[in-house]
Amino acid sequence: MRNHKYLFLITLFYFAMGFVNINLSLFGLACMFFPFILLLKNKKKTWCQGYCPRANLYTSCAKLKKDPSRKTPQFFIYGNMKLIMLSYFGISLFFIIMTTLRVANNLMVPMEYLRFFIIIPIPLELPQLLTFSTIAPWITHLSYRFYSLMMTSTILGLILGLVYKPRTWCTICPIATISDKLLEKVR
Ligand code: SF4
Repeated sequence: MRNHKYLFLITLFYFAMGFVNINLSLFGLACMFFPFILLLKNKKKTWCQGYCPRANLYTSCAKLKKDPSRKTPQFFIYGNMKLIMLSYFGISLFFIIMTTLRVANNLMVPMEYLRFFIIIPIPLELPQLLTFSTIAPWITHLSYRFYSLMMTSTILGLILGLVYKPRTWCTICPIATISDKLLEKVR
């Protein structure tokens, strides 16, 4: 199965929606659930093989580079890099859930700004074309945190795709790592 040519537009659209209203970023949660729903239905990585907009962005951007791709580092494929990324992903999700619960319980103010790698604040305010006054602060906090997570992994994947093979990110993507483990169980 081949990725559709213009799937990358969904990724660009997703990040553009963050400029319209950050709460729309929660639609990106679908990218976390669809891969597993399809995997359990088809007993293979259908999402990764044909529908992932992010992977399509990496392959599309890689077409623009002039130099030949370097080989994917061996420790990405056989070493601990998968585990490192999975741990980063798990810690990030834990941080997102715990801080969202704290905001919901009025124990902290929402962090209404982006962060790179969950700890590096980005000193730029995301313009908001639309504001919804009725949205609970914890939802806005969750939205900023989730958008930050998506932004970090997308930028990382783009850099890897430009330096190495286009889909180098896919060798260490936490979704793929969990999918591989799930496949071992369901097959
Ligand atoms: S490994 Fe990750 S980035 Fe690559 S296709 Fe699968 S979900 Fe998308």
